[in-house]
Amino acid sequence: MIRDLLKKARYTSVAAGHGRPAAGADAGADGLAKSAAGSDGSDGTVKSAGTATKSAGSVGTGATIPCPSCGKQIVREEFLKAYKVCPLCGRHERLSVPERLQATVDPGSFESLFDEICPTNPLHFPGYTQKIETLKKKTGLSEAVVTGRCTILGAAAMLAVMDSRFLMASMGGAVGEKLVRLFELAGKEGLPIVVFIASGGARMQEGIHSLMQMAKVSGAVGVHGDGGGLYIAVLTDPTTGGVTASFAMLGDIILAEPGALIGFTGRRVIEGTIRQKLPDGFQSAEFQQDCGFVDSIVPRARLRETLGKLLAWHA
Ligand SMILES: [Zn+2]
Repeated sequence: MIRDLLKKARYTSVAAGHGRPAAGADAGADGLAKSAAGSDGSDGTVKSAGTATKSAGSVGTGATIPCPSCGKQIVREEFLKAYKVCPLCGRHERLSVPERLQATVDPGSFESLFDEICPTNPLHFPGYTQKIETLKKKTGLSEAVVTGRCTILGAAAMLAVMDSRFLMASMGGAVGEKLVRLFELAGKEGLPIVVFIASGGARMQEGIHSLMQMAKVSGAVGVHGDGGGLYIAVLTDPTTGGVTASFAMLGDIILAEPGALIGFTGRRVIEGTIRQKLPDGFQSAEFQQDCGFVDSIVPRARLRETLGKLLAWHA
């Protein structure tokens, strides 16, 4: 019954979803998530590393740059070589899709799929279509998620990477559809799936169409799991809103990057609702691990190796 409803939701959304463009992002969690990484394509090469994040992403051209976390001067080359991790304080900057691919997959192994699925403007939200077009040109992406297949240390897997530069990787109809198709294909091919998650949550310009993606993608995750498929969720900064409330927390194994913001909605909203003071850092990866929502926090330098091993063990 539920599955039928989910199926129906999916096709309703698809019908309403494609063909036309759409507009801005919501960042579901009342402004929790603020900025994002720079990316470009999906071929595993970093083409626009300089635009990656609003903080350390703007690495400039100098030999040293200030770390936005510890404030100390760090060697630019060293920072980039470590895939944007501060060598002094360990702050993990956000990565664009090309940067993430370069840091994770075997060189040349990534094959992009479902690029033809693009955002539409089902509610005719003013300015959304233009915003999407501008972002497409700026980022080189057609949506906030890139999906495809790859190998990681020789182990084959389906891979999705979300890019917060694109409307804070909010979950529009096309984002949901690409993820669902990837889970379905992973099931057909008997492959595990790895999703690098970063999102501000729902996409307000698509209203209910965006919210439907929570059930739709969760349904696809469930079907993939019922078939014995492995799903590894990697939570990166920021993972918030309806994405946290759906597929981000449904991984068989849930990994997170150090210091990542992981939560549903903002502190003020929660405190106002439950009328209680919340502890410091209650939405950090570390706090979520202590509470049992995250299995392991893996520094970026060890992520490729960790994923490769997990995939090999489950092959
Ligand atoms: Zn630092």
